[in-house]
Amino acid sequence: MAPVGVWLFWLPMAPSTSFVTILAREGTNRALTERSQDASADRFPAMLKAGIVGLPNVGKSTLFNALVANAQAQAANFPFCTIEPNVGTVSVPDARLEQLTDLSKSAETIPTRMEFVDIAGLVKGASQGEGLGNKFLANIREVDAIVHVVRCFEDDDVIHVSGSVGPVRDAEVINLELGLSDLAQIEKRRERLKKQMRTSKEAQTEDAALERIQAVLEGGGAARSVELSDEEALMIKPLGLLTAKPIIYATNVSEDDLAAGNGFCEDVVALAAKEGAETVRISAQVEAELVELGEEERKDYLDGLGVEEGGLKSLIRATYRLLGLRTYFTTGEKETRAWTFRAGMTAPQAAGVIHTDFERGFIRAQTIGCEKLLEAGSLVEARNKGWLRSEGKEYEVEEGDVMEFLFNV
Ligand code: GDP
Repeated sequence: MAPVGVWLFWLPMAPSTSFVTILAREGTNRALTERSQDASADRFPAMLKAGIVGLPNVGKSTLFNALVANAQAQAANFPFCTIEPNVGTVSVPDARLEQLTDLSKSAETIPTRMEFVDIAGLVKGASQGEGLGNKFLANIREVDAIVHVVRCFEDDDVIHVSGSVGPVRDAEVINLELGLSDLAQIEKRRERLKKQMRTSKEAQTEDAALERIQAVLEGGGAARSVELSDEEALMIKPLGLLTAKPIIYATNVSEDDLAAGNGFCEDVVALAAKEGAETVRISAQVEAELVELGEEERKDYLDGLGVEEGGLKSLIRATYRLLGLRTYFTTGEKETRAWTFRAGMTAPQAAGVIHTDFERGFIRAQTIGCEKLLEAGSLVEARNKGWLRSEGKEYEVEEGDVMEFLFNV
C-alpha cells in the first residue's frame, strides 16, 4: 500500500484510472498538468540541434524558412544574407499521431519537436578565417548533426559562387574546410598533450587516437570514419570535431526534378554512399511555395509534380533518426502526444522526458507498440487481448511504444 502522502499516478492513458481524474480528485489537477506541460520545453535539456550548412546560394535559407514556415531569416540572392545563426524549432511529422488521436478521440494532438540552425556564410577559405569563416565553423561546433545542402538546380538568375552547378565539387569544398578546421584543432591539442604524455597514460591514449584521426583527415577523409573505442570517443568529444558529426546530404532540386532527381543528385548519392551517409532529395523552392498555399491547393500542386511532399518531411524525419532520436507516445482523451527520447533509454529515463518526478518516482510502465494498439482498435480491447505489457525499470523503450507510467511522488 502507498505510504501516507504518496500518491500513485497512472500517466495518462488508462481510461479507468487516468492521470487527470486522479489529480482532479486531489485538487491538484491544474498544477501538475501544467508542470508536466511546461516541463517538456526544457526537459530534453539536450534538445538536439541539426545545423544546415552549404555554400552560399544553394538554398539553405529557403529551406530553413520553409522549415520554420514563418521564421524571420531572409532568403535573398546574396551570399552573406544570414549572418547570425538562426535557430528554428520544427514539429516532427508522424502519421501515427493522427491514427492514435482517432483511436483515443483525443481533444489535442501534440507532435514532438527538434531544432534546426541555419548556418550561413561558409565559403572556400573559411578555416583560414575568410568570409566570416571561423565564426561559422564555431557555430557548426555547437550542433549535433549536419544537414549539408548541395545545389542540384540550374538557374541563371541565381549566382553560383563557383560559376557553375557542381554539387560534388561544392560538397568537397565545404568538407575540406571542415577537415582543415579539425586538423588545426587536433594539432593544437596534440601540442598540449606532449608534456602530459610523459606521465599520463590517458594522454597517450588520446594522442594515439588523434594521430589516427589526423592521418585520415590528411588523406581527405572524415573523423567520423575512424573507429574509436568508447574511451577514446569520450576523450576527444570536447574537441567537437566537425567531421565527426553525423551528416545528411540534402540535394536541392528544381520542382521538375523533384519526382525523379537528376544526374547531379546521383553524383551526390555516390559521394554520400562512400561516406556511409544518407541523402534526401528536396526542393526548397517547392517547400517555400507550399507554405503559402491552402490545404487543397497544396495537394493539387504536389499531385501535379508527381510527389507526395517537397522533401521537408523526409528530411526532418531522417535528421531526427540521424541524431539518434526516437519517439514514444502517450494517448488518452485529453491528448495524444509524441515524446522524444534517445535510442537505448530505459523506461524511467523515458518517463523523465515528461517530468523528472516521473523518473524519480517510477514504479512501472504499461506499454504496447503503436501498431499493435491500432490493430486492437482500443486500449480496452488491447488489454482484453492481453497485449498490454507491464515493464519495469530495466525496460528499454522502443520506437513507437505507447507508454503509460505508474509512479509515485
Ligand atoms: P543560401 O545562401 O544557401 O541560404 O541560399 P538561399 O536560400 O538564400 O537561396 C539563394 C537563391 O536561390 C534565392 O533566390 C532562392 O530563391 C533561390 N533558390 C533556392 N532554392 C531554389 C531552387 O530549388 N530552385 C531555384 N530555381 N532557385 C532556388
